[in-house]
Amino acid sequence: MDLKQNIISVRAKINIALAAAGRRPEDLTLLTVTKYVDAPVIKELLSFGLQDIGENRLQDALEKQRALGELKNKYKWHFIGSLQTNKARQVALNFDLIHSLDRMSLAETLNNIGEQMGRPIPVLIQVNVSGERTKHGIAPGELGAFYEAVRKLPGLCAAGLMTMAPFTDDPETVRPVFRELRLLFERVRAEYNPGPEWRELSMGMSNDFVVAIEEGATIVRVGSAIFGVGTEG
Ligand SMILES: *Cc1c(COP(=O)(O)O)cnc(C)c1O
Repeated sequence: MDLKQNIISVRAKINIALAAAGRRPEDLTLLTVTKYVDAPVIKELLSFGLQDIGENRLQDALEKQRALGELKNKYKWHFIGSLQTNKARQVALNFDLIHSLDRMSLAETLNNIGEQMGRPIPVLIQVNVSGERTKHGIAPGELGAFYEAVRKLPGLCAAGLMTMAPFTDDPETVRPVFRELRLLFERVRAEYNPGPEWRELSMGMSNDFVVAIEEGATIVRVGSAIFGVGTEG
């Protein structure tokens, strides 16, 4: 694996997409999904200026954090996997942003934890835009009511939306999914008038991050294109 070359290549594609969309580089976070690699590789990311780390399994992430020691604090940790309620506390304690709030019972559990911690827990609401049965997330038609309930919870800070697009070889086929998430995001802004914390759209992975950026992503979650595993474009 040529980490450096892969990162350069991903960044180049990101910059082209941003420029084409008339967007500024500081408006996008490249979230490196490190589920494929161990702590020594995560360490290397720092020298490339990559500090946002995405993990989808709590136990794996905790092991890597332990192995990193003090360095752990140099990163911003994103939890991107589906979150079981009994793991909510450990995730809240060890991650900076949870991308996968997908049900009211989890919102209530996290709210209690946030109140105990004395600071609201930053979350993104996961939306199942494509409607695939295998995917987690709030149905688009239920998002308004869900947001309205979540914003009343003082132990939570809803910072935006996340979606997983269907897997595809042709990223153009998922453009409507990203466009819809953006519309939902703006609809919440128009209807509920949230504060400036409402600002993140987490969408786009290795094979479709360019399209996601064109459609307004503020966080792209990229793993295999950086670590050279699995499918890549
Ligand atoms: C694995 C994963 C990614 C990254 O996928 P790649 O195709 O490897 O870039 C992004 N988001 C979630 C939720 C994931 O589980």
